[in-house]
Amino acid sequence: MALERVKKAILFTRLVAYGFRVSVSILRRAVSVKFAALTTRTLTPPTDHSEVKNVVVVGAAFAGYFAARILAASLPRDGRYRVVVIEPNTHFNFTWVLPRFSVVGGHEHKAFIPYTPAFFAQGPKDVVRWVRDRVTSVRKGSVVLRSGDEIPYEFLIIATGSTVANGLPSRLGVETREEGMGVLKAMQARIKAANRVVIAGGGAAGVELATDAKNQYPDKSVTLVHSRQAVMHRFGPGLQKDAMDALQRLGVDVILGERVDSGSADGKFIALGSGRKVECDCFVGRVADIQMLAGQINCTGQRPASRLIAELAPDAIAPSGHIRVKPTLQIDDESLPNVFVCGDVADTKDTNPNSRIAGRQAEIAADNVVLAATGKEPSYTYSPGWGDGVIKLTLGLDRSTTHFWDGESELLFSHQEADLALMCGRAWAGVSAKPFEDTGMYSS
Ligand SMILES: Cc1cc2nc3c(=O)[nH]c(=O)nc-3n(C[C@H](O)[C@H](O)[C@H](O)COP(=O)(O)OP(=O)(O)OC[C@H]3O[C@@H](n4cnc5c(N)ncnc54)[C@H](O)[C@@H]3O)c2cc1C
Repeated sequence: MALERVKKAILFTRLVAYGFRVSVSILRRAVSVKFAALTTRTLTPPTDHSEVKNVVVVGAAFAGYFAARILAASLPRDGRYRVVVIEPNTHFNFTWVLPRFSVVGGHEHKAFIPYTPAFFAQGPKDVVRWVRDRVTSVRKGSVVLRSGDEIPYEFLIIATGSTVANGLPSRLGVETREEGMGVLKAMQARIKAANRVVIAGGGAAGVELATDAKNQYPDKSVTLVHSRQAVMHRFGPGLQKDAMDALQRLGVDVILGERVDSGSADGKFIALGSGRKVECDCFVGRVADIQMLAGQINCTGQRPASRLIAELAPDAIAPSGHIRVKPTLQIDDESLPNVFVCGDVADTKDTNPNSRIAGRQAEIAADNVVLAATGKEPSYTYSPGWGDGVIKLTLGLDRSTTHFWDGESELLFSHQEADLALMCGRAWAGVSAKPFEDTGMYSS
């Protein structure tokens, strides 16, 4: 007991030190951006536009959008470089709230944050070119878009994140705000119309969806099926227990050590791997099943969106599907020193990939591009830090728990949550958007 207390005290001290390091890093960046603005204002841009070199960023979410902002603020201000951001979505999809908005109506618009030039205000005017399109292939020196256009690059940052086959509650699978709001509303309607909801996958998205659904509709039967022996199995035992306690307190049936046979859903029952049948008029599985049935929800597995690099440099793809990188976040392929990777798609061995990690990697990739653009060797390096693995898990509509874990000890903080929209206003403000006005020029 005493030993456990000492371990927790050590963990708390490490947490404070971690917070301090993060603050210093934010300060360092603010100072260096100010310094760049003051010292390079007088340089003249090249008159010939063909001399302007592109730093292309593929994907604009927690990794790519933030990398583009750092590049805009820190690349040499002599007009030699421009940042080209390529993103198919009309709006920044704020993933954190998708399980909640799959159940609770009236807030859908808050999940779609407008992309706005104001986000790049620290850089020179017009340093960013925004391209609403999808990259369909990457070549050495250029990217090809769905539109057929080809854009050359001097440096490339791949920040394509991850995808799921089934969409909600983890991803939307559509590109416009209107379509995305429609997908969320359709899911809300399916759950509302159902009597027996079965959710597959006891990771964060599954636990959040199950607790929200049961909290919102206490009279419905909600069952969570998970293939492992504990929900939240990738995290510490304290969080596993908190999650299980909350599920049971709300009355969610939890079935562990079983997989769902999604193809067996017939609108009345669904079969588990063992052959057991569970009553179900709203399961969530493969896309084909979603079209067939009244409603389906699958919270299992995201996959890294690494196809573009798999075609260009197949040896750089890890068995997990992530893109192998060096500590500098350059792709692990000697023939592509000018290609960097950051965020969920990068093979950085983080135990709980998340937005903070994506943002930290974005910083390192962008800083290294700036070094290379000024003739220096990329020297900033990334290594996983346990403090980045923190997770805040909602456990019903008015509760959450925050979990820090260093692999041995864990700290858990329970909170009452007053805001059904999970404080997305802060996320809007964090990317220079006015909550909740859809005014971003890039998003129009
Ligand atoms: C349901 C859910 C809840 C979460 N909650 C939290 C949380 O509370 N806290 C937290 O820190 N993290 C959370 N996460 C994790 C977090 O969302 C991810 O770690 C983060 O989104 C990773 O950012 P990313 O930029 O690497 O990738 P993504 O967010 O996946 O973004 C990739 C971007 O690339 C674009 N793209 C993909 N392919 C192409 C292409 N070919 N051409 C051009 N653009 C392309 C996509 O459109 C997308 O905008 C959650 C995730 C989910 C699914």
